[in-house]
Amino acid sequence: MLNIVIFGAPGAGKGTQATLLAEKYDFLHVSTGDLLRQEVAMGSALGRRAQDIMNRGDLVGDDIVVPLLDRALRQRSTLPDPDAAIDPWDRERNGMPHRPEGCIIDGFPRTVSQAQTLEFILNRLQRKIDLVIAIDVPRDELVRRIHDRAAVSGRSDDTEEVIRHRLELYDQQTQPVLDYYRVSGLLVSVDGSEMIADTNHRICSVIDAKLKRK
Ligand code: ADP
Repeated sequence: MLNIVIFGAPGAGKGTQATLLAEKYDFLHVSTGDLLRQEVAMGSALGRRAQDIMNRGDLVGDDIVVPLLDRALRQRSTLPDPDAAIDPWDRERNGMPHRPEGCIIDGFPRTVSQAQTLEFILNRLQRKIDLVIAIDVPRDELVRRIHDRAAVSGRSDDTEEVIRHRLELYDQQTQPVLDYYRVSGLLVSVDGSEMIADTNHRICSVIDAKLKRK
């Protein structure tokens, strides 16, 4: 069981890397941004509360995001695709090959208080964070990437003003979470300034080393 938090500023590519890693290692991928966007798309009560906040680039309240994360980790499968019809954690029971169990959490925690909440949630599930991977990308490269992404993402929070605000919030609220994990010895930083495949290679080396030590 390997529980990984993937960390990075908007534009660092944490969603992209988390998706690649989930595929390669068969980890459950839990993205709070995706969970929130799903709620908005479904027009649920939570989604309606989150929509304006997300459009402004602000952080939604813990009362909205924590239950979503809790539910996703509890269900252990958030994937709507047919392959997920079998609970990934029940593969062996169903005669399918064993695979390393684990999850990759992307977009959470974004504040020190959320980091404490995550520990609490995992603790109740008798799990803990094994590794925090921070993807490092210089600020000018982040801004360039988000601008490029804005042209194709269709995300209503990828406008110039909102992007600036999201980066500011990252510096103020989310950056301190890195120090929190640095102190606990869980943090590994990876250079994310080059191509997607290069970053992926670096992250895989970190995970493989961790898996070997398990
Ligand atoms: P990015 O990292 O590129 O900003 P995400 O998809 O992770 O994108 O998040 C999109 C938006 O969803 C955030 O700007 C915020 O409004 C909301 N959000 C996601 N995760 C959290 C969280 N842990 N706490 C509060 N708000 C969140």
